[in-house]
Amino acid sequence: MSKLAAFGGTAAVPRDRRRVQWPLVEEEDRKAVLDALDGARLVSDTDGVNPVSDLEENWARRFGFAHCVAVSNGTAALALALSALDVGPGDEVIVPALSFIATGLAPVHQMAVPVFADIDPVTFNIDPDDVERRITPRTKAIIPVHLHGAPADMDRITAIARKYGLAVVEDAAQAPGATHRGRPVGGIGDAGAFSLQVSKNIPTCGEGGLLVTRDPELAEAMRCGRQFGEVIEAGRERDYVSYGLGWNYKMNALQAAFTNAQLDRYDGYERARQHNVTGFLARLAQLPGLQVPTALPDTTHAWHILRFRFDPAAFGLDGVRPEALRSALRRLLRAEGVPMSQYQLMPLPDQKVFVDRVGFGAGYPWSVTGARGTVAGAGYPVTRAVIADSLTIQKRHLHPGAGELLGMYADAFEKVWANKDMVATLARAAS
Ligand SMILES: *Cc1c(COP(=O)(O)O)cnc(C)c1O
Repeated sequence: MSKLAAFGGTAAVPRDRRRVQWPLVEEEDRKAVLDALDGARLVSDTDGVNPVSDLEENWARRFGFAHCVAVSNGTAALALALSALDVGPGDEVIVPALSFIATGLAPVHQMAVPVFADIDPVTFNIDPDDVERRITPRTKAIIPVHLHGAPADMDRITAIARKYGLAVVEDAAQAPGATHRGRPVGGIGDAGAFSLQVSKNIPTCGEGGLLVTRDPELAEAMRCGRQFGEVIEAGRERDYVSYGLGWNYKMNALQAAFTNAQLDRYDGYERARQHNVTGFLARLAQLPGLQVPTALPDTTHAWHILRFRFDPAAFGLDGVRPEALRSALRRLLRAEGVPMSQYQLMPLPDQKVFVDRVGFGAGYPWSVTGARGTVAGAGYPVTRAVIADSLTIQKRHLHPGAGELLGMYADAFEKVWANKDMVATLARAAS
């Protein structure tokens, strides 16, 4: 049994092996950006063939979407999808209690009230039963998030949406390439939103987002909304006439060019990632008290973030609080060179913006319906349990060459688990 790095032993991951580059910037990416720059294809009005329309076409073709509309970022994509679906003041939108803040903000940007639903303890995705419990006459849409790259239960969610006449906007920011019963996520609901932010699985060199839909009219409404409410037609000069409310949510051409080059290498990256991550998880699945993320049958997981839950009882630590075990493991694994971190320190409904109803003017959108703010610390037991007893690995495993590093991470976990007594001492001290 080797000595833990936290107590002077040699770390499982040597210091000079810890840095991982993401995104991977290769010669083709530089060339794509420079070609766009030199070709003066710096369009921002999306007329004619340019890097932005190339990316829309390539994204739709690669994943099998009917229509793709590029926008400035993933948050804008979510808000624009809601707008195109006529979500507005007085409406409620059901979103999961565990997600990135943008999922909860997008309805507010449309003057609609976000209503939070608890999650599933295994997939960490929105719980369809809790969605159904929270439907009211004001409910207009559901935003299932494919959190960490795992497809949400789209069968149940689309069935509920059909039953109550609701729109479904998939937040697929963390899940490009994930599939649910053979269908690409993002293309199952009425609209799907992706993010190309640098830390995501298919990145750009900054910020970007993509919207997809099967519905040509919805796609047109999205195009109109991203550009001041104007209608841009190929071959017709821009006339600066607006037909409705619009924003400037256009994508930057250089960022589109960068993602086009990344998309060319995506298949190879994805194959390597699936191989590396599943091998890593298979090793960790042997350790008692550790719940590793899994892909449900008939789904493909995009492994954007790897979340591990720790069970004190199964670890042999009856009576120890999950937070105490988590903090002991975090300290010991980090000392070994595994960058364990938390993703979301609290459920979304605990965020100040929703508790204090920090919106527009006199408490809008909540004051439209008289809705109360959420209550910090109350409800959402599964979300709270998951946040209390889990840690994540982010970004490092996205690199296609991460196999060896993940092998060292697995060595580190096995070493920590072999020093169970030390873990127990630390966890009990923290409890
Ligand atoms: C990243 C992310 C977003 C927002 O995307 P941006 O491009 O950063 O605006 C929305 N939802 C989820 C789940 C995300 O991870």
